[in-house]
Amino acid sequence: TEELLRSTEKLVYAGEVAVSIAHEIRNPLTTVKGMIQLSGKDSKLLHYDLIMSELERMNLIISDFMILGKPKVVQFSDEYSSTILKEVLSIFQIHADMNDISIISETIQDVQVKCDRNQMKQVILNILRNAMEALPSGGEIHISLDIEGSFQRIKFTDNGEGMPPEVLRRMGEPFHTTKSDGNGLGMMIVNNIIASHGGRVDITSEVGKGTSVAIFLPMK
Ligand code: ADP
Ligand code: MG
Repeated sequence: TEELLRSTEKLVYAGEVAVSIAHEIRNPLTTVKGMIQLSGKDSKLLHYDLIMSELERMNLIISDFMILGKPKVVQFSDEYSSTILKEVLSIFQIHADMNDISIISETIQDVQVKCDRNQMKQVILNILRNAMEALPSGGEIHISLDIEGSFQRIKFTDNGEGMPPEVLRRMGEPFHTTKSDGNGLGMMIVNNIIASHGGRVDITSEVGKGTSVAIFLPMK
């Protein structure tokens, strides 16, 4: 038990260090991004799009770490799922466009759910990013809203590379990643947030075919 305690303490400490480093990196990163944006696409700067998308990627990784350090103050309100979805898509669309990904939304039944708006955005963004990363040469992400029992189901289906059962089984384990630049925190955050909302996450996947991630949230 003492051994376990020590390793838990270490993990918590490592988390704190990661969060403080993330904070420190965010400021210079924001400056660099701003300068490059100012100098603009038309300047002689080579690989403008690539530089911008890589900077944005760094930004997203930092956001993940900062989430880990956030105090757990949650603010539940009644929200239409489609409204939150639209807000996230307005940010995500640019990444989809850059990666040749079509986002196809079909709203079948949109209802109000009790949720923390910011946390839900984080959940949706993490799922969309995974879908995008599973589609290195483009493809489709379908999003549907419907009702199952007393839950709103928000389902994301990509036609990407999919994953074998052993990866699927370990999905959501902290730091478990198959990506050279992944951190293996995304699905852990998704699971934690959805669990704290009284919901659940269902994932199916087939190698070469794609992956479907459905989140269930209790209706208002
Ligand atoms: P990360 O994205 O940093 O690797 P995540 O927790 O978000 O961490 O995902 C864990 C792992 O689950 C990924 O490394 C990947 O192997 C697998 N995975 C998640 N979403 C998908 C998806 N849509 N398609 C294929 N594999 C996925
Ligand atoms: Mg991820």
